[in-house]
Amino acid sequence: MTFQELGLNEPILRALADQGYEQPSPIQAKAIPPALTGRDVLGCAQTGTGKTCAFAAPILQRLSEKSVQPRVIRALILTPTRELAIQIDDNLHAYGKNLPLTEAVIFGGVGQTPQVEQLKRGVDILTATPGRLLDLSGQGYLDLSHVEIFVLDEADRMLDMGFIHDVRRVIKLLPQKKQTMFFSATLPPEIMDLVDTL
Ligand code: AMP
Repeated sequence: MTFQELGLNEPILRALADQGYEQPSPIQAKAIPPALTGRDVLGCAQTGTGKTCAFAAPILQRLSEKSVQPRVIRALILTPTRELAIQIDDNLHAYGKNLPLTEAVIFGGVGQTPQVEQLKRGVDILTATPGRLLDLSGQGYLDLSHVEIFVLDEADRMLDMGFIHDVRRVIKLLPQKKQTMFFSATLPPEIMDLVDTL
């Protein structure tokens, strides 16, 4: 199996080759084809399996098929920790380096001004932790009404860290009609409830 056979386009294939990726990992081989057609994905996978590329590559490809100006947030990735958020944003930057899309990352524990400035410049793909996202949304600094693709990353850790109510609040801010990709290392009943609401 090759990345090309999964249906990825030339700019993304070149970027993945530059990363030294030769073959898709199992989660990539399973998730990328349905995600590229706009289907929802429920992925049972943990960090280290290549799951970031499994959702990032389809997001980049789908958004690059249509340009929206001025830029609005068209993809939102929610993840529990600052470290994961930064890592995801770095990966999006690397996989999307041959595409004209912009990414930004927001998380708590640091001043909000640089994040707000970045949002004001226009962002296509936003990676965020739930608390800071709700905070900036409450202050009117970001609009989630144009989100076409929503990724919930590490859902079971969100639950363990007590973020599940914040996650539900974020979901209420998103359009009803969207593509959802949901990743969790385990699928306990509380997580399956959330999956059902999505
Ligand atoms: P992740 O599970 O997304 O955090 O990825 C774990 C590590 O595997 C990261 O260092 C990625 O850069 C790397 N990686 C992801 N997909 C591939 C692949 N298909 N081939 C080689 N390395 C990969």
